[in-house]
Amino acid sequence: MDGQKQAEQMWNQSCFITRLVSSTVRISETAGNLIKRIMSEGDLKVVNKATDGKADLQTEADRAAQYCIEKSLQAKFSDKLKIIGEEDVTSVVPNLETNFCIDVLKQDSKCSDELRSIKPEDVVIWVDPLDGTSEFAQAAKSASPLLQQVTVLIGIAYKGRSVAGVVHQPYYGNGQGRTLWAIVGVGTFGIPVIGKSASKVVVTTRSHSTPMVTEALEILAKQGLADCVERVGGAGYKVIKCLEGAAAYVFASPGCKKWDTAAPEALITASGGSLTDISGRPLYYGMDAQITNTGGVLATPYWVQHEDYVNAIPAHVKASLPEFAAKN
Ligand code: AMP
Ligand code: MG
Ligand code: MG
Repeated sequence: MDGQKQAEQMWNQSCFITRLVSSTVRISETAGNLIKRIMSEGDLKVVNKATDGKADLQTEADRAAQYCIEKSLQAKFSDKLKIIGEEDVTSVVPNLETNFCIDVLKQDSKCSDELRSIKPEDVVIWVDPLDGTSEFAQAAKSASPLLQQVTVLIGIAYKGRSVAGVVHQPYYGNGQGRTLWAIVGVGTFGIPVIGKSASKVVVTTRSHSTPMVTEALEILAKQGLADCVERVGGAGYKVIKCLEGAAAYVFASPGCKKWDTAAPEALITASGGSLTDISGRPLYYGMDAQITNTGGVLATPYWVQHEDYVNAIPAHVKASLPEFAAKN
């Protein structure tokens, strides 16, 4: 049997969730190529979405990638797929992605009966077409290592929980990029997950800091839970750092959204770690979910006791960051 036929046969024999992740891997890479093309053309057409006088930037790359991801998923599966994206679908791009990644289909037999039972109408797909826009826009002014912090995030939720995710890092390495993907219960792929490090590196925001973010980090340092703090951009990149040896991602502030955490949560959970709000509560990703992670974000890899970080966050910080599951 030739390769093409074999691939089709594997596709036909796979369950919906593996097919969805398999396609999403290629779609995220095509979105990443669009992002790189728009950056290289040099005109990002930046808009500030913030209404409070602060900066919440959107570029043509965010818009084009959102279009590519949503339309490709709908064309491949169904236009009834429930997709919640950060950006509106405005910037039309000509080529949609129809290919899929065989490596994902090879893991199909590891899916549980529950994963196998998932149907297209059961999932909510959370899309952040370009995470780390502040860093992306800043890097436009000069070639910059900040581009490593840019990711494409596509998370898949079932019964309100993040069950699978794809994180594409378009500028990884010398710009060849890499794609990380995970299905909870099957595993995390595309990255060698690194175990316990000698020093406890804690990663946090570089462009959305507040006095409370800094206070929480200082308290963790005093308790021996943060030997050093690295301020890097993007929720996707910070979770990658946790897979590569950082002890925790700590963000004691509202502002991060469900599309920022859905895919990274699947990656960290499927490798044995945790991602919750700052008080240790799970995040809810149903269609009626509150969009903002008002309870902050706390992620730890498998070798860290998540509870140690939850317990170290002071009560007044937790009290000022309540998490509401559904929209109220
Ligand atoms: P950061 O850690 O600052 O790179 O943020 C991670 C994600 O959360 C990015 O998509 C940010 O745009 C988003 N985010 C965090 N804080 C805020 C905020 N105060 N306003 C808008 N977006 C935020
Ligand atoms: Mg984002
Ligand atoms: Mg974004």
